[in-house]
Amino acid sequence: MPEPRAPDHLVIQKVMKKYGSGEPALKSVSLNVRKGEFLALLGPSGCGKTTLLKIIAGLEKATQGQMALAGEGLDAIPTYRRDIGIVFQSYALFPHMTVDANIRFGLDMRGIKGDEADRRVAEALDLVKLDGLSARMPNALSGGQQQRVALARALVIRPKLLLLDEPLSNLDAVLRKSVRVDIRELHERIGLTTVMVTHDQEEAMSMADRVAVMANGYVLQHDTPEVIYEHPASAFVATFVGNPPAILLPVEKTARGYGIGGTAFAPSRSLAAAIDRQNGKPVLLGLRSDRLSFADESGPLTITGEVHSSEYIGGSWLVHVALGEHRIAVPTRARPPAFGKAAHIRIDEAEPLLFDPVTGAKVAL
Ligand code: ATP
Repeated sequence: MPEPRAPDHLVIQKVMKKYGSGEPALKSVSLNVRKGEFLALLGPSGCGKTTLLKIIAGLEKATQGQMALAGEGLDAIPTYRRDIGIVFQSYALFPHMTVDANIRFGLDMRGIKGDEADRRVAEALDLVKLDGLSARMPNALSGGQQQRVALARALVIRPKLLLLDEPLSNLDAVLRKSVRVDIRELHERIGLTTVMVTHDQEEAMSMADRVAVMANGYVLQHDTPEVIYEHPASAFVATFVGNPPAILLPVEKTARGYGIGGTAFAPSRSLAAAIDRQNGKPVLLGLRSDRLSFADESGPLTITGEVHSSEYIGGSWLVHVALGEHRIAVPTRARPPAFGKAAHIRIDEAEPLLFDPVTGAKVAL
């Protein structure tokens, strides 16, 4: 994690991108990446994250807006002079060149040859732990090793900025987890300012210092993984991020108080006040399974539902409880209550999440 007050290294101001006559791929994106920081651009397919990465790299031109890297405006600098290292999803290695030649290529292009080039290639191979494989051809490497060659090729030019485009998506699930740790470790060691594109929230949350959650050409929230998880700014962020993500349940006002799906819900005082301030407009309560537990009786912040089914997940159970037509999963280490039994579910959260069902905006408590 960089110093909290590390200077901004990459500054993106009001960038808009329109490809054709349709809706812009990026509406108006402003972001800053501090020196030494690892930023993840996270969002569903089509939200504009690759477009933003391409504009930073100079592979696409913004329709409007400005960007600066290390204090220098990027707009007038052609791609090859931006000192930006890129790792593409496909790795884009030259298949007819050895690992050594693939890594050396960027140095040749910059006129760096001889001993200096040898030193840099060896250093890059060492950084990604590929020593001893420099004479291999790419097709004689595993997917994970090819990915590391692509990383070494990006690092060898000692870039001011590293861009990673879905770097783990071509790896199998097991390898993905270990390469995730490798890339983060490498980042800790060399502290290179990095921007990674991913649609995988777990990848973004585990690897990045800060995450920019994008949807529909906008950045919805830009903050640390902890803040994004604990204080999602909108219903979209709450349901996109987290393992498990939040589920949203509509809260009704009833003759006897409050309810969810026709079952009794006892809010806390602050939650009740926030619901009442809506003047009868519906609200959505955002709940995450890991913040739910069973209680012996109804009390503040409890919902009473009916046990629907349960699954043993090794050491504990996940109990699915019906709240009318809604279902929520509650973890428990104790043997789960029997099917059909009433169950009181406690929300273990000081400030539960509340959202406007129309705009998705957070409703303040
Ligand atoms: P994915 O994860 O699927 O790659 P993304 O979030 O990276 O998605 P972009 O690839 O940036 O999204 O695309 C954003 C929008 O811009 C999409 O609607 C896409 O169809 C459109 N788009 C992207 N590239 C072009 C292009 N070269 N010409 C026209 N439209 C494009």
